[in-house]
Amino acid sequence: MQSADMTATKNVQELLELLSRKGQEAYFGEQISILEHSLQCAYFAEQSHASAPVITAALLHDIGHILHGLAEDIAQYGKDGRHEAIGAAYLSHWFDEGVTEPIRLHVAAKRYLCATDSNYISQLSPASIESMQIQGGIMSREEAIAFDALPNARLAVLLRRWDDEAKIQHLKVPGLEHYLPILSAALQAPATP
Ligand code: FE
Repeated sequence: MQSADMTATKNVQELLELLSRKGQEAYFGEQISILEHSLQCAYFAEQSHASAPVITAALLHDIGHILHGLAEDIAQYGKDGRHEAIGAAYLSHWFDEGVTEPIRLHVAAKRYLCATDSNYISQLSPASIESMQIQGGIMSREEAIAFDALPNARLAVLLRRWDDEAKIQHLKVPGLEHYLPILSAALQAPATP
């Protein structure tokens, strides 16, 4: 294996270890841990035949919850941890915008879907509805039009729908090791000298 490949694989393994270690203990107002939620989200992405970068985005979309180290019940403190921006910025060391943009936009996608899909809000969990209030609330028409025009808006909306679905207790899904080759395939190509 080339040394650049080895470094990349090591980076991916470290990311998965972080998710495994901290995601098992971390909850975010739902009945399942962040690790279980992340694995379910990635599973739904793969079932939908998403590309490696999009499955990677699904698996890692909530890593910002783990990184910022704030309490899982942050919504009740009335603060917005901005986990989507924290996660996207952190992951940009290894992944390009095909991975980081759907993650950065997945909270905005919830606000967008509330504005554009009349059935959507009834499918949200209570924690998700509560957190939306501190995330800016339902988008205005102008905000929704601007969101729609973003290059990765469609992928962010797909990710959001898997995210909302991925809150099922006791669902059997593949473990983190299943995603090692997928994350490796999604790594950004090393800069050419
Ligand atoms: Fe999520």
